Amino acid sequence: MVLDGPANSGIVDIDLPGARVTAKAGTSLHELMERLVPLGLFVPVTPGTRMVTVGGAIGADIHGKNHHQAGSWCAHLESIRLLDGSGDVRVVSQTHEPEVFWATAGGMGLTGVVLDATIQMKPVTSSRLMWTPTGRPTSTK
Ligand SMILES: Cc1cc2nc3c(=O)[nH]c(=O)nc-3n(C[C@H](O)[C@H](O)[C@H](O)COP(=O)(O)OP(=O)(O)OC[C@H]3O[C@@H](n4cnc5c(N)ncnc54)[C@H](O)[C@@H]3O)c2cc1C
Repeated sequence: MVLDGPANSGIVDIDLPGARVTAKAGTSLHELMERLVPLGLFVPVTPGTRMVTVGGAIGADIHGKNHHQAGSWCAHLESIRLLDGSGDVRVVSQTHEPEVFWATAGGMGLTGVVLDATIQMKPVTSSRLMWTPTGRPTSTK
């Protein structure tokens, strides 16, 4: 069977105070940033292209330029909704069925189809960056 990943795209829920977003697996990081940066939320990990889907980011557990500080994509997931090989939908997280969660993180789709995921985003005050005296970038108005 071939699945059209990007056809399953869109933001399902935004929890602004908690800086959490639930997005369908076919949603690209580009779509997340376009919609969420104006609301003050940025993706926690940014790879060399924003044309990556949430499902692909999980499948490869992608890294960004902040890898040494933030770790990879799946470290920032609150939960994944996964359609497994038995046809069951499981909600897995770092604390609930962690072995399935970590097998899915970087698992290249071998544990099933990611339907959607809840992502802990990074609060920002603007889309601009300012270099601080420590050399670490911070967002600025
Ligand atoms: C220009 C460029 C720059 C890049 N820079 C970086 C970088 O800086 N850091 C980095 O880590 N990577 C980088 N990559 C690699 C890219 O992030 C990964 O290849 C990523 O997995 C691609 O995501 P995709 O949405 O295109 O998924 P696909 O290529 O379609 O799939 C990738 C894997 O995820 C699985 N998958 C996709 N969707 C689902 C789903 N819904 N459920 C289950 N499994 C699924 C697929 O089966 C496949 O095994 C770069 C790629 C390019 C082209």
